[in-house]
Amino acid sequence: MFAKFGPSGNSQSFFDEGYTSTLDTFKWVSQRGLELFEYSLGRGITIGSAAAEVFGAEAAKYGIEISVHAPYFINFASDDPMKAEKSIGYIMSSFKILRAFGGKRCVFHVGTEGKRNRSEAFSDIKRMFDRLLEAKFEKGYDDLILCPETMGKLAQIGTVEEIAELCKMDSNLYPCVDFGHINARTGGSLKTEEDFQRIIDKFFDEIGEKKTKNMHVHFSKIEFGDKGEKRHLTFEDTIFGPEFEPFANVIVKNNLTPHILSESAGTQAEDALYMKTVYNEILKQK
Ligand SMILES: [Zn+2]
Repeated sequence: MFAKFGPSGNSQSFFDEGYTSTLDTFKWVSQRGLELFEYSLGRGITIGSAAAEVFGAEAAKYGIEISVHAPYFINFASDDPMKAEKSIGYIMSSFKILRAFGGKRCVFHVGTEGKRNRSEAFSDIKRMFDRLLEAKFEKGYDDLILCPETMGKLAQIGTVEEIAELCKMDSNLYPCVDFGHINARTGGSLKTEEDFQRIIDKFFDEIGEKKTKNMHVHFSKIEFGDKGEKRHLTFEDTIFGPEFEPFANVIVKNNLTPHILSESAGTQAEDALYMKTVYNEILKQK
C-alpha cells in the first residue's frame, strides 16, 4: 500500500490545453500519473446524480478515485440551530453525489465559532454530530468516510486536537489533515520532520493506527497573518510554506498511506505530481 496523490479541482493547465469539461478530467489526471481527484461542492451542489454517475464511470475507467468537498456554508458551530440542522442536509446531499461518483470520502469544514465561547460551541458540535451520524446511518451511507478538516483561520473550529476528538465519535470519521492550514493557524510552525512527526504521533495516540495511516491530507502552501490563513499559494512560494519534503520523510518512516490532494492556486496537478515524485524518490532510497 502506498500514498496516493491528486489535484483538488482542475489545474489552470487543463483549461490552457483547451479542455472545458470535467468529462475530460479523469483521463487528463491519469495521464499525469496521478490517482485521485477531489470534486468541489464548496459553492453549492449544482451537479446532479446522473451527471455524477457519468463522471464516476469515466473516473473508474482511468483508475481515478473521486472524493468530494462538501459546501463551505456548512456550519455545525452556528448559534442558529436551524443552520446547524441544515448542515446535516448538505452533508447528506454531498453523500448522494459521492455515491454516484463511486467515491468513498467526503471532506467538510466543521464550522466557525459564533459569539459563544469555544468549549460551548464544541459541545454543541458534538451534539449535532450525534444527529449527523444517525442520519448517515439511516440514509444508508454508513460505509462512506466523513473527513472533518483541520482549519487555517483561528475563529474556525478545526485544531488538530478538535479534529482528533471528533474523529473518535465513529469508526468512519477520518481526519482531513490540511498541513497548510495547521501551519497558517500556528504562525508557520511546520518546518522540520519532527514538527510533522509530532502531529502524526498525536493522531496515532488519539485515533489509532488505521485512521492515522489512511488519513485524508490537503497539502498546499498558504499565506497567513495574525488571524491565520489568508490565501492559497503554489509550490513556487518560498516564504510561507510548509515544504513537502519533511512530511514525505514522515510518510515513508511511518508507513503511512494517506490520500494527498493539492489545493494549490492553479497548479494543483503539477504540485500533486511534484509531491508524488518526492515521495517515490524517498521510497526508492529506503
Ligand atoms: Zn477544505
